Amino acid sequence: MKPLGPIPAGYDTVDGELAIGGRTASELVAEAGGTPLFVYSRKHLDDRMAELRESLPHRLAIHYAVKANPWQPVLQHMAGLVDGFDIASGGELAMVAEAGIDPTLVSFAGPGKRDPELEAAIAAGVTLNCESENEARRALAIGNRFSATPRLAVRVNPDFELRGSGMKMGGGAKPFGLDAERVAPLAKEIIASGAEWRGLHIFTGSQALDAEAIAETQGNVLDLADRLTREIGAGPLPKLNMGGGLGIPYFAGDQALNLRLVGERLAERFSRLPDTLSDTQLCIELGRYLVGEAGVYLCTVIDRKVSHGETYIITDGGLHHQLAASGNFGTVVRRNYPVAIASRFAAEPAEEVNVVGCLCTPLDRLADKAFLPRADVNDLVAVFCAGAYGASASPAMFLGQGPARELLV
Ligand SMILES: *Cc1c(COP(=O)(O)O)cnc(C)c1O
Repeated sequence: MKPLGPIPAGYDTVDGELAIGGRTASELVAEAGGTPLFVYSRKHLDDRMAELRESLPHRLAIHYAVKANPWQPVLQHMAGLVDGFDIASGGELAMVAEAGIDPTLVSFAGPGKRDPELEAAIAAGVTLNCESENEARRALAIGNRFSATPRLAVRVNPDFELRGSGMKMGGGAKPFGLDAERVAPLAKEIIASGAEWRGLHIFTGSQALDAEAIAETQGNVLDLADRLTREIGAGPLPKLNMGGGLGIPYFAGDQALNLRLVGERLAERFSRLPDTLSDTQLCIELGRYLVGEAGVYLCTVIDRKVSHGETYIITDGGLHHQLAASGNFGTVVRRNYPVAIASRFAAEPAEEVNVVGCLCTPLDRLADKAFLPRADVNDLVAVFCAGAYGASASPAMFLGQGPARELLV
């Protein structure tokens, strides 16, 4: 038997079934017209933001990293909650525009921005987090051509990383940002060109559950920003995007992040900021922490079979919507996400089963050797922690399956 990840708080049982936003899984599936279905809970989104506002210093703006879940209804709901948005492509720029989000609240990071993407961002007044000298110079040239003033920040590749981070994006050679010693010369060039100088972006990693590690990294980010601002020598820093990295528990043994401790440590650092940063706009950018636990993926049991003594529960879902839960999105050892039989949510576990998807590949697994209530054909399976990097981060076209349905309740 292999353990399942912890089911996030805030999900109830109604009539023996999993309920989301007070409605049973089978009602939600009927409303959506079938499975596979992602259900996102407004209450979870609201509650998570309320916790962040309560725990973190008020001075710290909270941005949403759109790549975690760019579905329009979710994006529009987040627009009423967060202070800004971080995008990573021209496609995401079009999505935030469609959601009616003020482009001056948007910053655009990501290596390999093409000229048409830079043009659209500059025309809209989006801040570009420049990932290289070449990119910054192309942005300046586009500004000249269109007589527009580009709003430019520089992304720094820090020489430290977020300890315990699930996906390392800082420390050593990286395709992201400029190595620290190259930042000041480029910042000076940007400022001298007459572009609007928007400061620094320092992202150090993702999916960290250790509050001490996050606090230590945030301290290092502030120290690095202070040092670079002094090197640039053009007065206080206008803006600092301090990165994010707040993680959620996906697997057995994962402990939820102590957000209060992160907030306390940050408040302490903010109480003694150097002159370079004392008036700086400070923000963090969060993806999975804002939306991950708000999403549940529902699929229907299509078949049950036994092979060499192991029972397989075969569903109409799979890795084409849930690449991360299948263990094929940046994980080394496959572990089980929180998975349940949604239509028998109150039932006691009764058998060890492998829950798989409908794709013709052994990679398509949703839960290995899981101890679950007995499930039969037409029962519903729920995969939790499905709000981030689910629908938009999975190969929906694989095997001609197509996208899942999505619902915001
Ligand atoms: C992906 C990404 C994020 C969001 O990461 P989460 O782990 O979902 O919080 C934030 N900032 C940058 C630069 C990213 O690439």
